[in-house]
Amino acid sequence: MRVAVINYDFCKPDKCNLECIRFCPINRSGSKAIELSETVKGKPIIYEETCIGCGICVKKCPFDAIDIVNLPDQFGSDIIHRYTINGFELFGLPILKQGNVIGILGKNGSGKTTILKILGGELIPNFGDPTAKLEPVNVLERFKGKELYDYFYKLYSRKLKVVHKIQYIEYVSRYLKGIVKDILSKVDERGKIDEVKSLLFMDSFWDKSVQYLSGGELQKLLVAATLLREADVYEFDEPSSYLDVKERINVAKGIRELTRNKYTVVVDHDLIVMDYLADLISIIFGESSVYGKVSKLYSTRVGINNFLNGYLPVENIKFRQDEIKFLLKELTDLDFSKNIKLRIQWSKISKKMEDFSLDIDEGDAREGEVIGIVGQNGIGKTTFVRILVGEIKPDFGEIIPPNISLSYKPQRLVPDYNGTVQQFLENSSKDILSSSSWFFVEVIKRLNLHRILESNVKDLSGGELQKLYVASTLAKQADLYVFDEPSSYLDVEERYIVAKAIKRITRERKAVTFMVDHDLALHDYISDRLIVFLGKPGKEGHGYSPTSLRKGMNIFLKEIGLTFRRDADSGRPRVNKLDSYLDRLQKDKGEYYSM
Ligand code: ADP
Ligand code: ADP
Ligand code: SF4
Ligand code: SF4
Repeated sequence: MRVAVINYDFCKPDKCNLECIRFCPINRSGSKAIELSETVKGKPIIYEETCIGCGICVKKCPFDAIDIVNLPDQFGSDIIHRYTINGFELFGLPILKQGNVIGILGKNGSGKTTILKILGGELIPNFGDPTAKLEPVNVLERFKGKELYDYFYKLYSRKLKVVHKIQYIEYVSRYLKGIVKDILSKVDERGKIDEVKSLLFMDSFWDKSVQYLSGGELQKLLVAATLLREADVYEFDEPSSYLDVKERINVAKGIRELTRNKYTVVVDHDLIVMDYLADLISIIFGESSVYGKVSKLYSTRVGINNFLNGYLPVENIKFRQDEIKFLLKELTDLDFSKNIKLRIQWSKISKKMEDFSLDIDEGDAREGEVIGIVGQNGIGKTTFVRILVGEIKPDFGEIIPPNISLSYKPQRLVPDYNGTVQQFLENSSKDILSSSSWFFVEVIKRLNLHRILESNVKDLSGGELQKLYVASTLAKQADLYVFDEPSSYLDVEERYIVAKAIKRITRERKAVTFMVDHDLALHDYISDRLIVFLGKPGKEGHGYSPTSLRKGMNIFLKEIGLTFRRDADSGRPRVNKLDSYLDRLQKDKGEYYSM
């Protein structure tokens, strides 16, 4: 079977020569596989039954508007939903099991949110026919004799109440007003407000107004509000964004403890969180905005390793060419025994801001070096970075040289740019879009930015905005690159594409990169050295001199009381359960992060 998808935002029949229609071999032979149609406002429609999937229209379209994918015939029986004619298609749904946390792992644009909407009853599936107006009774007929029947029967007979924590928390701060404790008191249908407050460590912002909350605090508020509602089905869409490592584990613990005996489903891109939180994993693979296919359920460890390997053994499907590997460094390590030139130095620095004081030890970074920055939220990482880039003046201390050329991606991105993605990118570098360059092939295309060049920056999703800012920051020629949380809203594959590009560009341009991020696996992958921040969040922070990755991780993890081991097969870092045998053993040896 095949899926033919036309992106009607890109398709411009008045600006092309209708190449897709003119060159189609089926059309030329007198039959019809593609034609203009009034149902899509005079744009083309592809008839999947007659199309032979030759891909000529895909190559000929000057606006890259068409995707044709040939899929195994057995996918056909799993069609669940299609929003529009020649639009994205979803195959399969994960099986929810009462009393288990089901994790969904997959790339952006592959249908994860669509799945949550269908399982939550917000969207009635149409089984691939966007013109069909199906009622719940029709859906039940389709699921008769299948594992999902019971679930949908209970859902549609209103025997299941669903709560759903949405993905983009920024939207909430626009309409939610009031003080945290008042908001939560109103939704506390389970009488568990004190338990949730303590599980998620919400003391420090309990009396704050929503408008002053940081991203991490807002995330915890939404997770708390979801957990306090009395429901049968709990859905969490990316609960780890903006949280630091310790908070992620606390949120994971909170979700596990308060959803016992419930149906729970979690979408997230942080493998460490997924590993800790889920009982079973469904992988969703496919092509962004074209199709998504849900795998069978796997145990969490096996599921994550299958995902990294890009291969599903039970289904015998290889869904990615390359494996994602850990402990395999991108590019060779810098040889610190050689005299590599210093690129930047800083003296001891201090800064006092209202209730918060920051002290930084002296340090330096050499040509080509990626310095990772780790620490809890509210400990001064962003403040240090803003001192480095000259946005905040320290009370004491200096950066040498003071006017180093800079390219900076801040933490929170505001889509206030009036113009298209292409204009935004070309502002950073004129030849960024030259199709033969390494940057275009390895960064722009692999992040799928080439397909949204004509979109307005103001209309982008959180993930698209993040990719755009990261790419344009990298495209700019500079001696100092600073990335504050580049992984937010990116899927696992996108994180590794970005990480590889950061390292390669830093090395090639003999620049220095500072990267603040809570994804420890990412630091593991590209950071040459680490700056660790310790202290009391919101009160005082101390940034230590750069140290080796191993030493830095140990210092940081000791402070927050977590230990990590390595997965024997994939080499990925895994959190040990508190007080487990390995946790105690590693703590005794002082080995909080096993390398
Ligand atoms: P994910 O959560 O994995 O990022 P989504 O489920 O949000 O993916 O979306 C999958 C694809 O479905 C998107 O790429 C988009 O093209 C399409 N899509 C999502 N919502 C709609 C909609 N309301 N109308 C048309 N297409 C949609
Ligand atoms: P991190 O990046 O580690 O999360 P930040 O550097 O953003 O931490 O913030 C550290 C502390 O400084 C927080 O308590 C924050 O509220 C406070 N802070 C940040 N910017 C300002 C400011 N402009 N004025 C007053 N306090 C600030
Ligand atoms: Fe033109 Fe491409 Fe649209 Fe066909 S799909 S009408 S070639 S823009
Ligand atoms: Fe025609 Fe080939 Fe395109 Fe199908 S894939 S519409 S057969 S050109």
